[in-house]
Amino acid sequence: MSMSNNHSSLISDIESSIPFNIETANQSQPLHEAVQSQLNTGNQLNAIDIALNAEQPITTWTKEQISEIYNTPLNDLLFFSQVQHRKYHNSGKIQLCTLLSIKTGGCSEDCSYCAQSSKHDTGLKAEKLIDVETVFQKAKEAKLNGSTRFCMGSAWRDMTGRKSALKKISTMVSRINNELGLETCVTLGMINKEQAKTLADAGLTAYNHNIDTSREHYPNVITTRSYDDRLNTIKTVQNTEKIKVCTGGILGLGETKEDHVSFLYTLSNMDQHPESLPINRLVPIKGTPIEKELSSGKLPKERKLTFEAILKVIATARLIMPKSIIRLAAGRYTMKESEQLLCFMTGCNAIFTGERMLTTMCSGWEDDIAMLSKWGFTPMKSFEKH
Ligand code: SF4
Repeated sequence: MSMSNNHSSLISDIESSIPFNIETANQSQPLHEAVQSQLNTGNQLNAIDIALNAEQPITTWTKEQISEIYNTPLNDLLFFSQVQHRKYHNSGKIQLCTLLSIKTGGCSEDCSYCAQSSKHDTGLKAEKLIDVETVFQKAKEAKLNGSTRFCMGSAWRDMTGRKSALKKISTMVSRINNELGLETCVTLGMINKEQAKTLADAGLTAYNHNIDTSREHYPNVITTRSYDDRLNTIKTVQNTEKIKVCTGGILGLGETKEDHVSFLYTLSNMDQHPESLPINRLVPIKGTPIEKELSSGKLPKERKLTFEAILKVIATARLIMPKSIIRLAAGRYTMKESEQLLCFMTGCNAIFTGERMLTTMCSGWEDDIAMLSKWGFTPMKSFEKH
């Protein structure tokens, strides 16, 4: 597609969908000329042009196109991701979500970053599934503090042989939905068709199952289940046509830039883009293999995560999966406020907030709400059309 084709319709669409003005360096220059001139400044912006002009989200992105976007000079990339973000979302809204661990530790998987794997000596004690009332009270507290999505995580490989646990979790979901009006999400490992149907019937909003990283890097991170096992669970959830998919990954697992492109390729080529796309920044946990590797100082420079690379992943995700809610997840507390602001400007529009984020720390509601309102963001409502 040529750079100039369709731009007048694109620009008028952008102008009519932008809820408030973007300040341009030259205030006398209309916005459409500013966008047009930016599109004309780059030499290799065809993939961005396609992303901005698409009438519907595209699910046939090539790695070459994604790489072209990812490798766009950062200043331009952030500009275009903001344009895309404002075209599809209210840029002043951020969703607050809270994640509760409902069954901690003792997991039989060997995810090399995870404190909850029974294969790593992290000092974490395995616990039983907590009771419905305790979970409900935690959800109520989250709602009172401003969260509109409540996520529940359990450290299980899958739901095989966990009939009574699934029943309990379904009760948690329906009570939180019906009595509190919150969106609900669970992450329980691999599930089959019947288990997905049970959760759909309980009214579950979304099921989280992260792909974690690229297909190529995945075997360096997990050996106890395959990349395709993960994709199959995601497909099973999508096939319910009732439960939305929440899937994303962790940055900082020793992956390269090519892995970032490949990770985004897998996500953006799903039949439907994930409704929710969590981006985690690794929090290295003592006793995990990845922490040992990182602290050994032997990781090559090209495998060390930079903040610039986090922004590139977010911006590229926003451009190629324009409708997804991009959630800044674990590790956000390690970012400066100015870095978080850049992530929101680039296209993140949800955060996890509350007491904890599974086994890692989390910024609290009070601090987050104060920080967001300082910058003019207001919380999204539950089930608000994004
Ligand atoms: S990330 Fe999930 S599946 Fe992997 S070890 Fe931790 S709890 Fe288990």
